[in-house]
Amino acid sequence: MSIEVKAVSKVYGSQKALNNISFNVKNPEVVGFLGPNGAGKSTMMKIITSYIKANSGEVFVNGHSTTKNPQAVQKSIGYLPENNPLYLDMYVKEYLTFNANAYKVSKTRINAVIKQTGLTPESHKKIGQLSKGYKQRVGLANALLHDPEVLILDEPTTGLDPNQLIEIRSLIKTIGKRKTVFLSTHIMQEVEAMCDRVIIINKGEIVANKKLTELRDEKEQTVIVEFDYRIEDAFLLRLPKVKSVINTYGFVYEITFKTAQDMRSSVFDFAHDNQLKILQLNQKNASLESLFRDLTSS
Ligand code: ADP
Ligand code: MG
Repeated sequence: MSIEVKAVSKVYGSQKALNNISFNVKNPEVVGFLGPNGAGKSTMMKIITSYIKANSGEVFVNGHSTTKNPQAVQKSIGYLPENNPLYLDMYVKEYLTFNANAYKVSKTRINAVIKQTGLTPESHKKIGQLSKGYKQRVGLANALLHDPEVLILDEPTTGLDPNQLIEIRSLIKTIGKRKTVFLSTHIMQEVEAMCDRVIIINKGEIVANKKLTELRDEKEQTVIVEFDYRIEDAFLLRLPKVKSVINTYGFVYEITFKTAQDMRSSVFDFAHDNQLKILQLNQKNASLESLFRDLTSS
């Protein structure tokens, strides 16, 4: 269960799409491949799946070279391409059966995948009649048919409504417990909701490769809290991961923490344990979104 990318570069004419990219993915985990539009995400994914060739460098999937043994690579990989191309005139089950035959996948397996992706009630409909969320499920089901160890999903949640988003995310998370899932997105919240790790790409170069927990701990966060009477700074400095405390006015304090983890519940628990009353509690700057902007703004 592994993807090894070694010093990969790719140019389209005079356009450099990937510049000396290296990274490894080894465990059953969900890895977010994050970057703005045009960063090179789809190009990297097509190289990993062996659909296009790099100009230099090497990629191995489960130890198989994408250039020397593309058949073995494609056997190990389930791929959901960007924009999920489907045959809209085919019925769900007919489409999956058609693709399953190419991989010699059993009928039992087809039904199991239909069930796993929640397509059972829709499996007799034409793909063209399905909602965008269900079309994505068909794409996912298709990628899962031959039970690959590695899943490559190119922007799997683009264009979904909020309910569909929640469903597809939870499906991907479940799949990620047993498989390596490498998914691209240009939205940081997406990574926060689904991924164990993030690899950030900007203009064809890797600018971060971190576990989400590490990334959160590198970032600071300020919580604004108002109590109903004055509290000593020294007392508030006992909070976990606290960096500084400023009494801005009245009984309002700005508490800065050395983490991007939402610390409001810690402040709340601390207040409760010490019988302090909170009148208001807000996060001033939180998200990893600002970190993503810092890393990809040049
Ligand atoms: P992303 O998926 O991150 O949006 P892509 O990998 O699609 O980025 O594109 C990376 C860069 O390579 C972009 O500047 C894009 O215009 C260019 N590019 C991608 N595919 C081609 C192609 N087939 N021909 C020429 N340029 C391309
Ligand atoms: Mg893309």
